[in-house]
Amino acid sequence: MNHSRGSCVCTAVRFEITAEPIALLCCHCTECQTASGSSFVLSMKVPLGGVTVVQGEAKPYLRPEADGQSRQVFRCPRCLAALWSERLDATGPITVYAGTLDDSATLEPVAHIWTEDAQPWIALPQEALQFARNPPDFRDIEKAWSDRNQKMPTSRHSAK
Ligand SMILES: [Zn+2]
Ligand SMILES: [Zn+2]
Repeated sequence: MNHSRGSCVCTAVRFEITAEPIALLCCHCTECQTASGSSFVLSMKVPLGGVTVVQGEAKPYLRPEADGQSRQVFRCPRCLAALWSERLDATGPITVYAGTLDDSATLEPVAHIWTEDAQPWIALPQEALQFARNPPDFRDIEKAWSDRNQKMPTSRHSAK
């Protein structure tokens, strides 16, 4: 895979994704809208340990979640841009806020979750998976992502 790189707004912090991403999805929940100050969050799921800081230092900030689980959001301590988050108990994948990636324009999510909270003017693409709330599990989303990447010539998901 090409090791995607990203950075904060002030570019003090740069990081690299060093593991194959598991999925790319949009979360439209009101929490993500509030936390980002935007209409949705473009979230890239990466295996734990798959993000490496290559410049500066990202600092963890606590983000309480509605379900009682808390996440640590890693931000640039200078411009406070949110770069990625991990569960406090360090289980499950890392969520990279994909808008921070250098080549985010080429990224297209395979799924949209919490569509019941989505802004009414957003037209969701028919070919993407859609879930009114959280998906029962992420297997369908991960499969859609891996199927998509197998079709892309630049991918190193070779058939073996
Ligand atoms: Zn910064
Ligand atoms: Zn959300």
